[in-house]
Amino acid sequence: TVKAYSADQPTSPGVENLVIIGSGPAGYTAAIYAGRANLKPVVFEGYQIGGVPGGQLMTTTEVENFPGFPEGITGPDLMDRMRSQAERWGAELFQEDVEFVDVNTSPFTVQSSDRMVKCNSIIMATGATAKRLKLPREDEFWSRGISACAICDGASPIFKGQVLAVVGGGITSYAGQVDYGECFRVFDNPNITVHFNTETVDVVSNTKGQMSGVLTKRLDTGEESVLEVKGLFYGIGHSPNSQLLEGQVKLDDTGYILVEEGTAKTSTEGVFVAGDVQDHEWRQAITAAGSGCIAALSVERYLVTNN
Ligand code: FAD
Repeated sequence: TVKAYSADQPTSPGVENLVIIGSGPAGYTAAIYAGRANLKPVVFEGYQIGGVPGGQLMTTTEVENFPGFPEGITGPDLMDRMRSQAERWGAELFQEDVEFVDVNTSPFTVQSSDRMVKCNSIIMATGATAKRLKLPREDEFWSRGISACAICDGASPIFKGQVLAVVGGGITSYAGQVDYGECFRVFDNPNITVHFNTETVDVVSNTKGQMSGVLTKRLDTGEESVLEVKGLFYGIGHSPNSQLLEGQVKLDDTGYILVEEGTAKTSTEGVFVAGDVQDHEWRQAITAAGSGCIAALSVERYLVTNN
């Protein structure tokens, strides 16, 4: 149980009010709200994605659908701004990965690569990682033709009206024509050609080094051919980064952290969750930020109620 709570003080010496794990839109938004509530949150930003804090948006260029930026804003710029705002409100930021969490005993324990912190509440905002095909030239063309986010990049001027290839999900409302890996709900759509029994081998480029197509292989005949497309979208799922809490809070069958409906509460009191690690459906910056806000306000209420 939580022993004491004061806005400016830790609940007891050496015990922090709140640790936030993750530095995407969910983590930083939670940090801004918790900071403004004088909770002095400790944020473990992590460095797994690209060796920098900021989460998935650090791997993209223009973000055109985050409210407040009518001309668009780059992912890194947006995340820098969120980070500065969290810092301005007193969040203590550590660029370290959390390696171990114990929420079975209160106060909770959070162990990073460099330090151990005791705390009365946790917001888990570790996001999700898009699954990749691991094609030989995937890294070279990641965000330069290959994308894991059709909602984000499908409407980009680079792709609009172009012939695109998709492995998995659907983006017909954006593209001119789509070549599908394999999917059964798309037969009636004249914009879509389905390629059965076909695997994606690699991407190919033109003399300018731009992506110009996808090399495919028929699984039955072994025949290889090039599909001329301007983009390749992966819709093959995401892996939630929930390993730290495995066995300690309830997860669904695919590893997403389960929340009490309409809240940010996990199955363990004092442990809250926000963003893509609990959301297999919407997975957008704005929804992650919104759930970060809910989680931080819930923590504030939890600490006050348990005082
Ligand atoms: P993430 O952004 O995934 O952040 C998770 C954070 O947790 C990271 O900082 C990571 O380092 C950290 N972390 C993980 N494990 C640990 C650990 N053990 N210890 C410490 N830290 C840890 N959405 C839009 O709304 N608009 C777009 O235009 C858009 N474009 C996108 C383009 C691409 C290429 C991708 C991949 C996604 C895009 N998205 C877009 C989706 C959006 O990025 C995500 O929905 C959003 O970032 C989710 O936020 P999050 O805070 O839940 O998690």
